[in-house]
Amino acid sequence: MKVLVIGPGGREHAIVRSLLADPNVSEVHAAPGNAGISKLVPTYNIDGNDPQAVAELATRLAVDLVVVGPEAPLAAGVSDAVREAGIPVFGPSKAAAQLEASKAFAKEVMAEAGVPTAMALVATNAEEAASALDTFGAPYVVKDDGLAAGKGVVVTRNRDEALAHAQSCFDAAGSVVIEEFLDGPEVSLFVLCDGQNTVALSPAQDFKRIFDNDEGPNTGGMGAYTPLEWAPEGLVQEVLDRVAQPTVNEMARRGTPFVGVLFVGLALTSRGTRVIEFNVRFGDPETQAVLARLKTPLGALLMAAAKGELDKAEELRWSKETAVAVVIASENYPDKPRTGDRIRGLKKVEALEGVHVIHAGTALDEEGKVVSAGGRVLAVVALGSDLVEAREKAYDGVELVQLEGSQFRSDIARKAARGEIKVPYGATGS
Ligand code: AMP
Repeated sequence: MKVLVIGPGGREHAIVRSLLADPNVSEVHAAPGNAGISKLVPTYNIDGNDPQAVAELATRLAVDLVVVGPEAPLAAGVSDAVREAGIPVFGPSKAAAQLEASKAFAKEVMAEAGVPTAMALVATNAEEAASALDTFGAPYVVKDDGLAAGKGVVVTRNRDEALAHAQSCFDAAGSVVIEEFLDGPEVSLFVLCDGQNTVALSPAQDFKRIFDNDEGPNTGGMGAYTPLEWAPEGLVQEVLDRVAQPTVNEMARRGTPFVGVLFVGLALTSRGTRVIEFNVRFGDPETQAVLARLKTPLGALLMAAAKGELDKAEELRWSKETAVAVVIASENYPDKPRTGDRIRGLKKVEALEGVHVIHAGTALDEEGKVVSAGGRVLAVVALGSDLVEAREKAYDGVELVQLEGSQFRSDIARKAARGEIKVPYGATGS
């Protein structure tokens, strides 16, 4: 099987790495890729958000499967163009990608499918926004209704700040979504969908804020770990039964079947399990941790989803080890990340047992040296017998990476390793 992976980030590097380990996969290509991906497979400098460019490349390479990583190409219709070219694709159509691209659409589908989620109001002016904020009370949750790479949500106790974000959302898009605050720990669950059937991967947790103790602004994600020892038994089945399958059924009923990853962002709240959001692709950096534990060949699995044959796919097998991914970000991320600096020490990290580096915002300079090229630069991923060991190994690797001004969180998976995560009564998982 020949596979083309679309995207430039850490998620795509992790996907390429897993595909290369699949005996069913003979060749992997990537576009545009990054410095880490280009060391593994041929890369092509095309615009991955351009449906025709991707379809042409896939046709020229005569690949058997295209895997679309990020949300932007999905929302732009890349999957549709590849499917029209007669090539199986893992990734939803433009219409189905609206589950992520429009929060208002996602809420509508959730309501139709009976999926438990936060109560929400859509406001189109300051007066409506103020009234919605007062309906739910603090902490306030204000979301722009579009793609914002996880950075368009403000959660604050400060009413003026909430109103200001709402205003910036009207200015940009004409509307804003205001929600009730969901208490309780968050879980990311990736569900593979073939339009009809659903298969869940192992749940993970990620860390959205830039600073330790969940302080500072939201980012694309600063680290992740999996599995979740503290998650209620039966959580995955509950989410399949109450969230993923009803959503897939509803999308099929609407004539826009969902093929790809339905990424269910959950809060385990005192009132039960609630969906925070849907995404329509693998999460980054959770994928780096989740795929590090997946033993089932990834290519065959994604092909089964693309062909509507997930019901015939082999049962998933997982490593018994725990995986931790710690992101190293550049100076000033998420504001105005500094780029173009040399990154040293990566070979030393790779030499550690059970540790590997996943590149995200990296590029090669004229001398072929790896330099920073984005906000989140790379992730150090470690496998260990438990969270304590996996964290130790990941941070041993992080300490070896030299990048001027870079930053990382020192508390990825720390609470979980200490047994400090409490699931409030109500999120029973039953
Ligand atoms: P989203 O872009 O919807 O994923 O939101 C990004 C992050 O904002 C989530 O991972 C949560 O940490 C936080 N968030 C979003 N919605 C809520 C909510 N209703 N209650 C509490 N936190 C939220």
